[in-house]
Amino acid sequence: MTLIANHPPTAELQALDAAHHMHPFTHNDELAEKGARVITRARGVTLTDSDGNEYLDAMAGLWCVNIGYGRDEIAEVAARQMRELPYYNTFFQTSHVPGIALAAKLAELAPGDLNHVFFAGSGSEANDTNIRLVRTYWAQKGQPEKNIIISRKNAYHGSSMGSASLGGMTPMHEQGGLPIPDVHHIDQPHWWDEGGEMSREEFGLERARQLEKAIQELGPDRVAAFIGEPVQGAGGVVIPPDSYWPEIQRICDEYGILLIADEVICGFGRTGKWFGSQTYGIRPHIMTLAKGLSSGYAPIGASVVCEEVAAVIDACEFNHGYTYSGHPVTAAVALENLRILEEENIVDRVAEHAAPYLGEKWAGLADHPLVGEARTIGMMGTIALTPDASARAKFAGNAGDVGLICRENCFQNGLVMRHVGDRMIISPPLVITDAEIDTLVERAWTALDLTHAKLKADGLM
Ligand code: PMP
Repeated sequence: MTLIANHPPTAELQALDAAHHMHPFTHNDELAEKGARVITRARGVTLTDSDGNEYLDAMAGLWCVNIGYGRDEIAEVAARQMRELPYYNTFFQTSHVPGIALAAKLAELAPGDLNHVFFAGSGSEANDTNIRLVRTYWAQKGQPEKNIIISRKNAYHGSSMGSASLGGMTPMHEQGGLPIPDVHHIDQPHWWDEGGEMSREEFGLERARQLEKAIQELGPDRVAAFIGEPVQGAGGVVIPPDSYWPEIQRICDEYGILLIADEVICGFGRTGKWFGSQTYGIRPHIMTLAKGLSSGYAPIGASVVCEEVAAVIDACEFNHGYTYSGHPVTAAVALENLRILEEENIVDRVAEHAAPYLGEKWAGLADHPLVGEARTIGMMGTIALTPDASARAKFAGNAGDVGLICRENCFQNGLVMRHVGDRMIISPPLVITDAEIDTLVERAWTALDLTHAKLKADGLM
């Protein structure tokens, strides 16, 4: 049976899906009862499902389709590369043209002396690479005990054993015996939820200084690296106070620990510069890349490594690699994606136009009675749902119940917006037009109205 193009009716697809398909981050029994939404096509910022309904995708898939859906140039490059060399590896002293070209291009785009690239198939794999890179780096320098990596609670760095350990998601750690040893988590710079009476900037400093305290307690001779997303994405688009990253940078410099910026979401224009590290003025030793590197058209991840770390690693055999490290088709796809981002000035357009426009429209949502704060950075946005904005109050009941209602109301109104707890977040394709931003915000407002009405009817507000 072929399921592509002329697909069977939705009910049949849903039944097959329920019978055989285990979905990520999903209670599959619950989904089976309801039936999955089957997406069949996408163009620009618009998704179409198997019943012909259209949705404005304010999440760019999973934060990845930076150039928008349906770019034929990418399909053509992929087809050409598949005909020329569909696969070869980069082990055993071999290389290939797309892998070489992409590594060189990333070295050109990445800031500072981040000039060396280790490819992976995903962000998770790249972060696993990073764990082994930083521990091997210190071991090669004669300090094998310097192997602790400090991360943050509510961080997301992937789903493999290593990357989920770096992450700070408690529900993930509860399954499968995580975290692995020698990963330490400090608190996150989430002012709205955890800032109490402090100003944003005081709170940012306090949270950054937890890194210094942790280094002192664990011992500077034990701490290998700190990892952080410039803006925590899956944690709820947690935009840190301006005081946070400069203080983290100071501490990393002072104690000589490696800084890993997980740019899987923030990279490739999302924050209005090529990399979130540039937006926040930090100088990582390693950057994790994925998602926007290929705009999601093909799976790829990468660790971009500075001269100093690469020199130490290159002086030994690094016993690490994936079958699809630098896959020629995904590398060709990523190169074409980078060409589009560059030649169409998409990152500059974000900085100069799209991000300010989105920021202004999004800020208007703060006037809604259900909304506590509405913030954006670049093309990422977040709103906190609250019964009382001035008290930054939480809803009675389970965190996330209200967010889930709101998300369903978004779907009903042709908008894909994600919820993280009782926070709604967006990360649309960078190429979204002003008219589409207007539609996005209008639909979000309607979904908030419907959510508000339901909470009132249920006596919850
Ligand atoms: N790091 C960050 C910051 C992410 O947001 C993600 C994915 N959401 C990952 C790593 C993991 O990437 P992947 O799903 O490609 O393994």
